[in-house]
Formats: sequence, C-alpha cells, structure tokens
Amino acid sequence: MAMLEDIRSCTTLNNGVLMPWLGFGTYKVPEGEEAYQAVRHALDAGYRSIDTASLYENEASVGRAVRDSGIPRNDIFITTKVWNDDQRAGRVLQAFEESLARLEMDTVDLYLVHWPVPGRFIETWGVLEEIYRSGRARAIGVSNHLIHHLQAILKSGSVVPAVNQVEFHPLLQSKDLHTFCRQHGIQLEAWAPLMKGRGLSNPVLEEIAAKHGKTAAQVVIRWELQKEVVTIPKSAKKERIYENRDVFDFSLDEEDMRRIDGLDQEYRYGAHPDRLPF
Ligand code: NDP
Repeated sequence: MAMLEDIRSCTTLNNGVLMPWLGFGTYKVPEGEEAYQAVRHALDAGYRSIDTASLYENEASVGRAVRDSGIPRNDIFITTKVWNDDQRAGRVLQAFEESLARLEMDTVDLYLVHWPVPGRFIETWGVLEEIYRSGRARAIGVSNHLIHHLQAILKSGSVVPAVNQVEFHPLLQSKDLHTFCRQHGIQLEAWAPLMKGRGLSNPVLEEIAAKHGKTAAQVVIRWELQKEVVTIPKSAKKERIYENRDVFDFSLDEEDMRRIDGLDQEYRYGAHPDRLPF
C-alpha cells in the first residue's frame, strides 16, 4: 500500500527518483495567462508535479509559473513529452532541446515518449536513453504503451522505462497492463483520471462520495492513488484545483475499492494505442 500522507507523498521510481503520487495535468490549458494562472494556483495549492507536453503548446507558461512561484526548481517535478511528428521526422533530440528552451529549464524530471509511433518508437527510446545518460532528464518513460510495446522496448533497450502514462480511470483499468508494469518496475500513471469530467455522475461513485462527504472526483482520484497509480487531474478552475488536491484526509475501504474496481468496461475516451489517428 502506497504511503499517502499528503500532497508531497511520492512514489520511488525504478532509478530512485521520487515522483509525487498526485500531480497537475495541463492538456488543453491554453498557453498564456490561462496556463500561467492554472499552474500558479496548482503550486499555491501544494501540487509539486506538473505534466505538460510539446503538443500542449503551454510549456513556456508552465516554466514561467514555476519560476515566478519562488519555489525551488528542485522541489517541483516537471514532466514533458516528445510528440509523434518529431518521432516520425527523426528529430527527437531537437524536440527535447526545444522543450527545455520553452520551459527555460536545464533539466526535466521525466521525459516521455508520447505515443508508440509504429516503426519509430524503439529508435525514439534509444534517443531518450541518450538524453537520460546526458543527465538532462532525471528519469525517462513512455506513454500509451501497451504490453507488446513495452516488451519490444525491454528487449532492445538498456534502460527500463520508469513510467508508463496511460489512459486510466474506473471505466478503463487495463488490469493486465498494470500487472505487467508492476512486475517490471514501471510506475503506471493515469491520464484522463477524471474520465475527462464526463463519467463522474455515476451512481456508484456518487454513493461512495456521499458516504465519505467527498465529491465523485475526489473519490476517483483517491481510488487511483490507492491502486498505486500516479494521477494528474487537470482543471483550469481554481476551486477544482483545490478540490482535486483534498484527497489525503480520507481513505476508501475494501468494499469501496471493490465496487469501483467493478466499474471497469475497458472504455476509452481517447485513442487506442494500436490505432493512432495522429
Ligand atoms: P481529466 O480526466 O483530468 O479531466 C479534465 C476535465 O475534467 C476537464 O474538463 C475539467 O474541467 C474537468 N474537471 C476537473 N476537475 C473536476 C472536478 N473536480 N469535478 C468535475 N469536473 C472536473 O482529463 P485530461 O485529459 O486533462 O487528463 C489529465 C492530464 O493527463 C492532462 O491534462 C495531461 O496532462 C495528461 N494527458 C496525457 C495524455 C497522453 O497521451 N499522455 C492524453 C491526455 C491527457 P475544468 O478544466 O473546466 O475544471
């Protein structure tokens, strides 16, 4: 069972680097004032992990918010990702350097392969290993990788991915993938942890939320944490940024966990990793 004391509680990645269990997602938070303010609110609320990507086009605002917060850079865990087009164009190293430049940072804490682009992701992983060896990413990992993608990387690579960030929530629990990741020391991380805000009015979640005096969003985040899955809910609204943080003052019992486990439908809001539309 993960130690979930407060928002600073961390998982230890397979290379010893600490990563907060709860972070802040920034997909579709528009570059400029909106992204800047959202990240400032998140840092004020106590989040110490921020997830961005070159695709989100908000790395510059994330970097600025981190600097202006006055919080030491070492106390904040920054994740960014290499986009598919850069993999296809064979410009992964350049893309990484461009991300660092936009963030105005010398290092990131975690650099991820955003999607397993067919015919490219193994080569991409080799470049991430070089980046890791250069010390400019404290950890490297993947995103949206299924078991067969991970097996290919484990076979050809020399660094085991520290993290696999995948769509994960009560309706999509990918149990075999989760087991595989555990067996290989790969930390699972949930994207769309709140089902994009669209699956929260579910009677089971609402009943459990009422029982604990919490919201369905808080129950879902807590369930992910108790499953030992790193989670990065996104909100552009200050009150929800705080709401999503307040998940360390209650815990779900076995019956609650079992009922939420029972909601799995292998339902995806996003793309299937073997059928990339982008
Ligand atoms: P989430 O499941 O985090 O849902 C975000 C949506 O839920 C927003 O519409 C938000 O609206 C709403 N919301 C937030 N908090 C609450 C709440 N307490 N009650 C009700 N609704 C709420 O989806 P994301 O797709 O954003 O995933 C999280 C993060 O994962 C991303 O931001 C990104 O960092 C990462 N990600 C990674 C992907 C990958 O391929 N690796 C793909 C997609 C996401 P509002 O903002 O208006 O509050």
